[in-house]
Amino acid sequence: MQLGSSRFDLKLKHPFTISRGSRDVSPVVFVQIEHDGIVGFGEAAPSNRYGESVETVEAFFAKVDVRRFVDPFQLESILDYVDGIAADNTSAKAAIDIALHDWIGKKVGLPLYKYWGLDKQKAPLTSMTIGIDEPEMIQRKVREAEEYPILKIKLGRANDEAVIRAIRQVTKKALRVDANEGWKTKEVALEKIKWLEQEGVEFVEQPLPAGDLAGTAWLRDRVNLPLIADENSIRLSDVSRLQGVFDGINIKLMKCTGLREALKMVHTARACGLKVMAGCMIESSVGISAAAQLSPLIDYADLDGNVLISNDPFDGVKIIGGTLVLPDRPGIGVIKRSEELLGG
Ligand code: MG
Repeated sequence: MQLGSSRFDLKLKHPFTISRGSRDVSPVVFVQIEHDGIVGFGEAAPSNRYGESVETVEAFFAKVDVRRFVDPFQLESILDYVDGIAADNTSAKAAIDIALHDWIGKKVGLPLYKYWGLDKQKAPLTSMTIGIDEPEMIQRKVREAEEYPILKIKLGRANDEAVIRAIRQVTKKALRVDANEGWKTKEVALEKIKWLEQEGVEFVEQPLPAGDLAGTAWLRDRVNLPLIADENSIRLSDVSRLQGVFDGINIKLMKCTGLREALKMVHTARACGLKVMAGCMIESSVGISAAAQLSPLIDYADLDGNVLISNDPFDGVKIIGGTLVLPDRPGIGVIKRSEELLGG
């Protein structure tokens, strides 16, 4: 097996702001795993929240020697080896996991959802994310998101009330709120959620800092909206201790090292009585199409990262009327746009 990688700057249609900061370009690293004349594509979308950057991703790849493996079907052995090279580096590990899964799907000639026995008609609606902005810009983004029946709203800064007011002036759609750890005390979070309960909100994601599980449990006893863990739900080992603290978990390939672990997290969450959401970073159609393969298993999808960018080099899953529509192509279902133009 051969592993190759290349950096790419995803350009955002609008500057993207959440409680932690703002940006207009999001760098990723694409990988290709080649074996037996087949190329599997993967993507690392590193997040500095989890200590990663394109530099750490490339430094991690330099330590990976996939030439020692001769059979990509030995997924468990290969990914155990990759996970054991160093702690963390979850998006770098996810890129390799995605590329191997893509390779396997192409080799057997099946989309992954079909390989896993899933019904793609069961993919849920996906929300469209509205980042933090001035009220006029927020209203413009809401109008641009007309085809999406559910909006995900980033809160957690001083202007929360102004943001919701601006949105409610232009739409009655269902809203999901993501505070991204932005409410710093349980009392502030309680006040915010009690207010949001009157505003047509479906659930609240990560109201408090990940370090405050006790505060989150206190909060959950006092609110009516479901609480979904994101920054608290990184890998498989996190899932069982979120029982009784949150109502559900947000699984992202870039946090959990990829599809293999994501599937284990889905089933563990079910055993713990937790709802399951699949989310994303700012990613191209490679990362999003990979995550979408397991969407028939989940309750809530927030797989819009590729819709937020203007220069996606790949074509893959589509969102039609808010529903994720998986392509009937093998593996993760993506093709390079230039090859598409050439009919390849
Ligand atoms: Mg989140």
